Order: sequence, then structure tokens, then C-alpha cells
Amino acid sequence: MVVVMVPEATQEEVDAVVQLVRSAGGDAFVSRGVSRTIVGLVGDVNDFDALNLGSLSGVVQVMRVSAPYKLVSREHHPARSVIRVGGVPIGPDTMSVIAGPCAVETPEQTLEAARMAKRAGASLLRGGAFKPRTSPYSYQGLGEAGLKILAEVRQETGLPVVTEVIDAESVDMVASYADMLQVGARNMQNFSLLQAVGRAGRPVLLKRGFSATIEEWLSAAEYIAQRGNLDIVLCERGIRTFETATRNTLDISAVPLVQRLSHLPVIVDPSHSGGRRDLVLPLTRAALAAGADGVIIDVHPEPLRALCDGDQALVESDIQEIAEVVTVLSPLMGRALTMAESSAPSARPGALAAR
Ligand code: PEP
Ligand code: MN
Repeated sequence: MVVVMVPEATQEEVDAVVQLVRSAGGDAFVSRGVSRTIVGLVGDVNDFDALNLGSLSGVVQVMRVSAPYKLVSREHHPARSVIRVGGVPIGPDTMSVIAGPCAVETPEQTLEAARMAKRAGASLLRGGAFKPRTSPYSYQGLGEAGLKILAEVRQETGLPVVTEVIDAESVDMVASYADMLQVGARNMQNFSLLQAVGRAGRPVLLKRGFSATIEEWLSAAEYIAQRGNLDIVLCERGIRTFETATRNTLDISAVPLVQRLSHLPVIVDPSHSGGRRDLVLPLTRAALAAGADGVIIDVHPEPLRALCDGDQALVESDIQEIAEVVTVLSPLMGRALTMAESSAPSARPGALAAR
């Protein structure tokens, strides 16, 4: 926090600010410039707020300059971070595709979706065993049985697993199966959950809450970081606006903006943002073009029978196209598409230009 004094502020007025801050347990440093005097405060800004420094004689303005998030801020860590998930990098030089079913339903459905994911260019498998649903009557997921299915499919396909955890109590159990823990939009400000995943020793995918500002989102990440875990990937998944034609509104500007504010990787969820299968491909192109470090995409072998979010899942006939998009656009953006072990998407060079 910084206190700006009027140019003609007297020594007594400056001293009064310094003394008040020190009496509140903080410290104050005076910089006298040619045209103004600035007092820089060190300590708890919440304590300083209560001092009402703006009302003191000679004070022009009180400004908060230090962001409420520090560990995740780029100010203190200029190089952009690379986070590894089961050996797969997510960061500034790569494009990482995470794909899979919204929810784990059966072993067959999950394995088939994982194979589709691989053919689409994914190097990580997504799939929810614990589903945080808006309605208590909607499918809630298979729970631990779903995690066992994911572990088997990982064994079969070699794809590390990204899966959601919905409460602090189950973090250790979910972490024993998962390569990356997802905190969903509905839980972005579940602070005890954030602290628990911060202690879990697994990378975390933190989705943006649908009504969260960027500052609130980064402050949520700070909760995780403060507990000692800086392996965090941020996911823009659409925010709530007045528009009802799409499930959410993809805030594409959040991608480059957050990459400036934070050193953490930022990926995009084109499935939950648009909520429609026909928007997944164009939103994926937009994500790559905006500089996203990855995308997370829903796929399903039989979306008409999906127990969760079937409308937004890509089907078999979309797979070739999505593979082409990520294979062709990644190098154009100066990124290498991260590969799953023993597989590569089958893209025809130049195919994108025809669309
Ligand atoms: C999901 O990824 O399945 C999910 C529930 O997403 P979100 O939290 O972004 O709604
Ligand atoms: Mn979903």
C-alpha cells in the first residue's frame, strides 16, 4: 500500500502518517520526490484500511499496489512456469490437450473415450468420478469406483488422469488415484478445499468460478500456493453473462491477461464454456490463437446416452478435425503439441486451410 502526500505536505503531516502506521504494527518508508512525497507501507493492508489514512491532513490518495496474490503473481516470478502432470508438461512452449468424458460412467465408456482423446491429440485424460451438479437429482458420479476405472484406463492407455475433487475430506483419497486434482468452478472459493489440495502433493487444475473476477480467481490460486503447492494450472471455462444462447461466455481476454498477471499456465475449456458440440472446434481455435497453454475437451463415444453434459461432447466424427486443429495451430503459435506415450494424432498437413 502506498500513501501519496500533497506536494506541500509538511514534515509533521508525513510523520503523522508514519507514526499511525507503526502504531498499527506496520512499517512506513518515506520517499521524497521533486513533485510529491510517497509513503510506502509494509504490513497487513487490512489493518491499514482500518486506519482511514485518507482522512489525514496532507494525504491525497491511498493506493493498494501490492496484488492480494503474491506467490502466483508474475511480479515476483517473471518466468512463466511449466507444470508437470504425470511427466506431461503444461507451459509456455507446449500445447497440452486434456480430453475425456465429462463423467466416468462405465469402464467401457471411459476406455473408449480415452482412445478418442488420444486420437484427438490428448496427452492427459479427463473424467469426473465426483460430479458437483447444480441439481441434487442429476447424476453425481460413481465416486471411488469411478476413480478405480480411471486408474485402469490410465494403465491401458498410458494417459495420466485429471479428475475432480469436491470436498476437503476426500482430497487424500482422490489424490491416491489422480495425477492432477481438478477444483471445479462451483468450488473455486471453497477455501478449505483449496487449502487441502494445497497440501495434497499433486498438481491442481483450478477452474474459474462462473462469477469470479480475475483477481478472485488468482486469489483462490494463492490459497493453494500458500499451503506450499505451486503446481497450479488455471482454466478459463466461461463466465456467466446476460447471454443465454451459450452455456457460458468464454472470456478469451482472460487468457493473455492472466498470463501477464501470473506465472501459472492458463488453459481453456471450450466444452463447458460454449456448452455446445458445434462450438468446441471454433472455441479451441480461439484458445490456441489467444495463446492458451492447453485445452480441456469433453469427448464421449455415445453422447446421446451420456449421463452428464452430452450436448457438448465431441463424437467420433469430430476427432480427426480437432486433431488437425491442435496439430496445425500449435507450431504456428510456437508450441510443440505434447504427445501421449506411443501415440500421435493423425493430421493431414494443410488440411486446416481447406476449412
Ligand atoms: C467439469 O469439468 O466437468 C466441470 C464440472 O466443469 P466446471 O467446474 O467448469 O463447470
Ligand atoms: Mn461437465
